[in-house]
Amino acid sequence: FKINMDEIEVLGELGKGNYGSVHKVFHRPTNVEMAMKEIRLELDESKLNGIIMELDILHRAVAPEIVEFYGAFTIESCVYYCMEYMDAGSLDTLTGGGVLAKDQKEDGAGVTGGDAAERVPEGVLRRITASMIRGLKFLKDELQIMHRDVKPTNVLINKKGEIKLCDFGVSGQLEKSLAKTNIGCQSYMAPERIKSETANQNPTYTVSSDVWSVGLSIIELAKGCYPYPPETYSNVFAQLQAIVNGAPPTLPPGYSDDANDFVAKCLMKDPNQRPTYAQLLEHPFLVADKDAEVDMVGWVAAALDRRAARGISTLNPIQA
Ligand code: ATP
Ligand code: MG
Repeated sequence: FKINMDEIEVLGELGKGNYGSVHKVFHRPTNVEMAMKEIRLELDESKLNGIIMELDILHRAVAPEIVEFYGAFTIESCVYYCMEYMDAGSLDTLTGGGVLAKDQKEDGAGVTGGDAAERVPEGVLRRITASMIRGLKFLKDELQIMHRDVKPTNVLINKKGEIKLCDFGVSGQLEKSLAKTNIGCQSYMAPERIKSETANQNPTYTVSSDVWSVGLSIIELAKGCYPYPPETYSNVFAQLQAIVNGAPPTLPPGYSDDANDFVAKCLMKDPNQRPTYAQLLEHPFLVADKDAEVDMVGWVAAALDRRAARGISTLNPIQA
């Protein structure tokens, strides 16, 4: 079926990105709550239709680790893109911004109480990582695409404890149209990709660049903040330099050797040295996830409580 705006009721704003905003909406004909992304593009109609056609392959992107796609349409120069609503939001807001450690009786990770942020237990970190890798492997093996934009805001989670990827690069036309100048102040791009983009060369990076971004995202999740903190660098250029030339970041203390080794392998500076997805799934860190019991539902519920305590809501009133 096709979705159009007449059938949609906007419920509130879920967030804003660099290219537009995401709203929670209700689709009346199907009775389904959805997330609707609005992307403003200054393009002629044929290009916009091209994008809609390219987005169609998303109907084949059906996997437990991929946010479901419902449909897309255009109005004037905007592309609207409807997807599964993930009711716990994205990973960045679930762990970010150091909260007071209270009531920490998590298993495994051996929480050393008293420090500023609530530590993500290793079991949870592992489950999230495993989901991300399986999702990326699916995209590569089944759809022959790389993600291109792996970062905590593009890893969504719901109260059932499911972890799913969104915003991967399916449409060449859409990628081209989004401002390329956006190597912003929080870059998850691999060193080789930063080099290639800043030199304005044709992109030479491959899937292993996504592996770097996974490593960086895991560290951010564990630390509760972006691993190259802006206050350390006088400007964006210096920050990018640190990514390209500096030693890669590491997990905060308290995680296992396997976890540390996994992250170090993802963050090898030489892309050829980074493992493939199949190899990463065989890594002891992720193998241990297979028959581990992890209370994701409980962790998400607790994380949502902490987020609410920080005054961050999942849904904001609609702005005119
Ligand atoms: P960028 O513009 O660089 O991609 P971004 O990922 O933060 O950054 P958007 O993709 O526009 O920007 O998303 C904005 C916010 O909306 C996200 O941070 C996320 O928290 C929320 N969001 C996006 N998609 C969904 C969804 N399907 N369900 C629930 N929340 C969502
Ligand atoms: Mg996004």
